[in-house]
Amino acid sequence: MKDKILIINTGGTIGMVGKPLRPAYNWQEITAEYPILEQFPTDYYQFETLIDSSDATPDFWLYLAQVIENHYDYYLGFVILHGTDTMAYTGSMLSYMLKNLGKPVILTGAQSPMVYPRSDGLQNLINSIYLAGHKLFNIPLIPEVCICFRDTLLRANRSKKTDSNNYYGFSSPNYYPLAELGSEIKVQKDRILPLPEEKFYVDKSLDPDVIMLELFPGMQPK
Ligand code: ASP
Repeated sequence: MKDKILIINTGGTIGMVGKPLRPAYNWQEITAEYPILEQFPTDYYQFETLIDSSDATPDFWLYLAQVIENHYDYYLGFVILHGTDTMAYTGSMLSYMLKNLGKPVILTGAQSPMVYPRSDGLQNLINSIYLAGHKLFNIPLIPEVCICFRDTLLRANRSKKTDSNNYYGFSSPNYYPLAELGSEIKVQKDRILPLPEEKFYVDKSLDPDVIMLELFPGMQPK
């Protein structure tokens, strides 16, 4: 196995460049301002069409899961660059599709494009690279689909986007953060799922007819 991390770019604000903003053509365009990124052992995979995450569909999730499946044996972990609007949905879907996951799959993005001087993208990306590359940086292996944003690592299927502007964009009301990302990366080992014993596979049986229905007081059952 290579001691490398695969960065998969699906789209979103983090990788936008230019004036007016457009999706970057490649990794070099996204990282032009940050030579520091060259020191990390990463490979880059870019979706042919980069999407605003509000355009995510079941086919998009299937394709993303397929990319992870195709590369699974060759990387220590995966960083997925994704728009923030539906990152929690993609993370939840992946957490149920990637069965017996034994490697970190870290979704991240940014509130402002990486090419902007005050962007939150660089910190989010470097933290994600550390978490995905775990043993290279003496960090415990987290075999889960997670969202890395600002200074917390959240279990993806317990996360929610709660702010479109603030750099603390995500929260996890029903489960504690898996790690705190301050000057040290503190992984809460007792909150992490155990390493699976069975072989990894992707469950591709999605049912697009499932809907979410929010209940509220006074709702008419009919
Ligand atoms: N609309 C964008 C998206 O979700 C916002 C972002 O990237 O944060 O793709």
